[in-house]
Amino acid sequence: MHDRRTFLKLSTLGALGGLLSPKLGAMTRAQSPNPARRPVVISTWDFGLKANQEAWKVLSTGGKALDAVELGVRLVEDDPNERSVGYGGRPDRDGFVTLDACIMDENAGIGSVAALEHIKNPISVARAVMEKTPHVMLVGQGALEFALEQGFKKMNLLTETSKIEWEQWLKTSTYQPKINIENHDTIGLLALDQNGNLSGGCTTSGMAYKMHGRVGDSPIIGAGLFVDNSVGAATATGHGEEVIRTVGSFLVVELMRQGLSPQQACKKAVERIHQNFLSQNRSVKDTQIGFIALNKKGETGAYCLQKGFTYAQHTTDGNHLSSAPNLI
Ligand code: ASP
Repeated sequence: MHDRRTFLKLSTLGALGGLLSPKLGAMTRAQSPNPARRPVVISTWDFGLKANQEAWKVLSTGGKALDAVELGVRLVEDDPNERSVGYGGRPDRDGFVTLDACIMDENAGIGSVAALEHIKNPISVARAVMEKTPHVMLVGQGALEFALEQGFKKMNLLTETSKIEWEQWLKTSTYQPKINIENHDTIGLLALDQNGNLSGGCTTSGMAYKMHGRVGDSPIIGAGLFVDNSVGAATATGHGEEVIRTVGSFLVVELMRQGLSPQQACKKAVERIHQNFLSQNRSVKDTQIGFIALNKKGETGAYCLQKGFTYAQHTTDGNHLSSAPNLI
């Protein structure tokens, strides 16, 4: 027989033991399946930190992933000191700043613009294409006319710094667009909101000194970005031609659908690209590819071909920059 004090003590220990016992733990998990970690936002490169912060304002107050995506990447497009996105982006080899962007929402809504000039927020034009036209992609002059119709302001996107640099480049270049791991960086941003919906966006000025009219992976749904609200989302940065060749972001999402974690899926996609180089006897020396991914459970992953790709991730634990693991 236990007196009341001993009984209480034993019951407390019993309850603690129960909490620690794997059997009870398993029961608790079965009754309420592991809740998704959310909201979550993940984005490419160092500038992802400030984009995440902006996106977090929307996500942490119960806003939609789509709005978080648009507002997050706009911040980078607006910044003339970010030389690979939006205003201040490096021009093509003829001196024109041409921008590529796309956006995708939780209902498989897609909008995209390519080779857009004079408008500093291509991501918002891409969203307008998605929401206000019967089409999914507008390019060049048509995209510009649509943007102006929608009230976007026309401006000169070539900053003095970018112009001087380009003029320098013209002196020494052989007028060839050279792929270099340092002359391009795209912001790709993926968000999972409090309601469990996923959206993503991707925006860039593309490869510096590219041929006029060149379009990379960033505005191509499936290549630079893909979102499937039942599975996950992925986005890419780096050498766009290689990402297009493998329909990289779609590949990452499909690998997640088959059961791979976001991290494993990003790694597999990078390995596929690397394999292409090997089988075609091409050198990967000047090529960088990076993927980030986010699944429906709020799990994230990142992987790149060569050392040097950073990504930023914001959860309820804060906003952190990390280096992605690399293949070679
Ligand atoms: N993927 C972009 C492009 O090829 C550039 C980058 O992300 O670095 O245009």
